[in-house]
Amino acid sequence: AVNRSEEIQAARIGLPVVGEEQKIMEAIYNNSVVVIWGATGSGKTTQLPQFLFESGFGSPGSPNPGLIGVTQPRRVAAVSMANRVSQELGEHAEKVSYQIRFESTASKKTAIKFMTDGILLREIADDFALRKYSIILIDEAHERSVNTDILIGMVSRIVGLRKSLSEEDPSIKPLKVVIMSATLRISDFTENPSLFRSGPPPLVQAEGRQYPVSIHFSRRTQRDYVEDAFRKVSRGHRKLPPGGMLVFLTGQNEIRQLSKRLKGAFKPTQREDTTQAKVQLSANEAPLEAEDLELGGTEMDNAGEDDYDSDLEITGLDDAEEDEGFDLGEEAMDSSTRVHVLPLYSQLPTKEQMKVFEAPPENSRLIILATNVAETSLTIPGIKYVFDCGRSKEKQFDLYTGVQSFQIGWISKASANQRAGRAGRTGPGHCYRMYSSAVYEADFAEYTDPEILRTPIEGVVLQMKSMGLHNVINFPFPTPPSRQGLAKAEKLLKNLGALSADGQVTQIGRRLSTYPLSPRFSKMLHIGHQHGCMPYVIALVAALAVGDLFVLQNQLDQPKIQNKKNDSDSDSDSDTERKVYTNADRIEDTEREQKSKAQARAHRLFSKHDDTSDALKSLSAICAYGYASDGDAFADQMFLRGKAFKEATQLRHQLTDIVRSNNPGLVPTYTPRLPEPSTKQIKALKQIVTAGFIDQVAIRADLAPVPPEIPRAPRRAIDVPYLTLFRSRDGKGTDLVERAVYVHPSSLLAKLTPKEMPQYITYSHLQQSAALVGDQIPKIRMF
Ligand code: ADP
Ligand code: MG
Repeated sequence: AVNRSEEIQAARIGLPVVGEEQKIMEAIYNNSVVVIWGATGSGKTTQLPQFLFESGFGSPGSPNPGLIGVTQPRRVAAVSMANRVSQELGEHAEKVSYQIRFESTASKKTAIKFMTDGILLREIADDFALRKYSIILIDEAHERSVNTDILIGMVSRIVGLRKSLSEEDPSIKPLKVVIMSATLRISDFTENPSLFRSGPPPLVQAEGRQYPVSIHFSRRTQRDYVEDAFRKVSRGHRKLPPGGMLVFLTGQNEIRQLSKRLKGAFKPTQREDTTQAKVQLSANEAPLEAEDLELGGTEMDNAGEDDYDSDLEITGLDDAEEDEGFDLGEEAMDSSTRVHVLPLYSQLPTKEQMKVFEAPPENSRLIILATNVAETSLTIPGIKYVFDCGRSKEKQFDLYTGVQSFQIGWISKASANQRAGRAGRTGPGHCYRMYSSAVYEADFAEYTDPEILRTPIEGVVLQMKSMGLHNVINFPFPTPPSRQGLAKAEKLLKNLGALSADGQVTQIGRRLSTYPLSPRFSKMLHIGHQHGCMPYVIALVAALAVGDLFVLQNQLDQPKIQNKKNDSDSDSDSDTERKVYTNADRIEDTEREQKSKAQARAHRLFSKHDDTSDALKSLSAICAYGYASDGDAFADQMFLRGKAFKEATQLRHQLTDIVRSNNPGLVPTYTPRLPEPSTKQIKALKQIVTAGFIDQVAIRADLAPVPPEIPRAPRRAIDVPYLTLFRSRDGKGTDLVERAVYVHPSSLLAKLTPKEMPQYITYSHLQQSAALVGDQIPKIRMF
């Protein structure tokens, strides 16, 4: 039995899921697979693991001694939900743990384990029968992440396997599966005969959101929604009664901008940020969630410029009096109330993320600026007001051409409702939508497409193949990816030598799949032993796998630098603050110039071994970071993204251990400090990179065997047309405009003269340039 605190007890009683406990548990006892549908906030994530725990699941000696595994599509959710359940379990707190990429709290005492679905997939590769677990709860199934989809396909098979295993050996128990969803759009699972062969699993409903949320649409939809958010949140802070605010934006840049402005306009509470993440080896997980990636240019420049405006209007000053729904007939907060502004996005260190769950300082208003990591799963205590910009950053991937792009677009109606739901979790709330009901009706899709239809799947295919699932094309995907996409993935894997000509996993492929990395990087490690290159290859792969290492020119004024400067006057009242701001603005301009020079110097330093290879530049940077005694200070000074380098360095250490565990002779124990590579090694390293990207080579158009007509001589390196050797674009014509790709301006190559541009280039990916979406001219971003 569990003794819970009175407060927790009282909160649980009102939850719809708790009301249905008996029905739910009966369904679980009587079926191997159960689907549970309950609106956001009904108590699925926090309560189901506890029901199971209380009825003996996860306890040694019980009929179901295996762990209770709970999967989440997002890292933040896995950590925060584990914390919450642990709290609710009082004296059994230590029975709950979480595991995410690079971080785990699992121990011998663990009975309930929260993890990302990527982690569980990896575990399936180790033990297809998942014997460690007695039950798997797949949460947020309606989000339809790739990993969730694969998992569901997998467990549908594992359930059968465990059943037959248990018939042969009674010490092995059958596996149970619960699929949890906040929406009813799950017929891809429930009515998919290839998934659940013994008929559709039973559906248990727990209806009813806890507290009502009033929705306030804007009369107009502003293009510049960061500006709009600033105005609305500012007015809201002045006019609205006490209560936390949660603002949905699309990415870190926007969050930084708005944070800076709010802290400038109101009195901010102090905040420190120093963090150290704990490391543990684990997973095969997408390294980045889409909203982590910054688009070229500031996001505001890109955002809202698409032609989705049925009634978009440029800011009208006349709408200051517009009824925005801030007059709630209750007393507003004292106008001197401080603002406690906290960011929340997935790249933020875990410790920083968890700050949003702490009570804000007294006499302050909590204002959380979040990407859509906050859209599902999380309950942030005290959030009463949600401000929803209605957009999100989505990964778009052209399965045929391999062109990846990130675009800001309208969210779906389902997402908008999830976002609104965040305001009603601990009490009644309000959601301020920064778009009109007309836009909502006309331009918001009902639901978002499953991610598997928008993603590269080589890693998945290889992983599945090395699990013994040869017929990937016939895998019971809830929504099968295109056969073309699967075929393309197989082709890449064959190019890399990971699959044999007839599609079987080769020795190399098996080796590649043991690395928690995309097959390209695994390939580089696999061949990295020549000329004593291994330590460099490991560092290089770590750097490339984490990616996004350098602070881009347009990200130069980060709050970190600002904070240091302004901390001392953050107590001044808002009038003087404004004056300081104006002066500071001017100083800032000069500073920015100096900074940008210093940045150029830093970049030159990193390219001293080779001034045409972005890959080697990353390598130099991570090696230099390895020499620094104070990594953070070094990162700041050299315009490196500290968090990325910390993560890459962890990965570097781990990869060293993995390589050594495969073959200790290949590389000495990890040391952050490597000697300078020799000329021979540099040459080898470039070849190794090319081997990983063997199908991503481009030739300078004018030096191609059959050069296309080039209308005018390019004046800058970034205007020099290249042709990819493998077909990469839809354009079927011979026309240059349709076929050419260009070097990304952030590449070292962009500094060359057109004549100096190399004949061949290996590139890491093609990126549809946001600025040129209309022209459909992808820019190659290259090594
Ligand atoms: P679901 O998974 O069905 O969306 P949850 O189990 O996450 O619902 O949450 C159920 C309820 O538990 C929430 O509506 C909220 O009232 C409460 N709750 C969950 N997490 C917290 C938290 N960190 N702090 C306070 N209350 C919480
Ligand atoms: Mg939930």
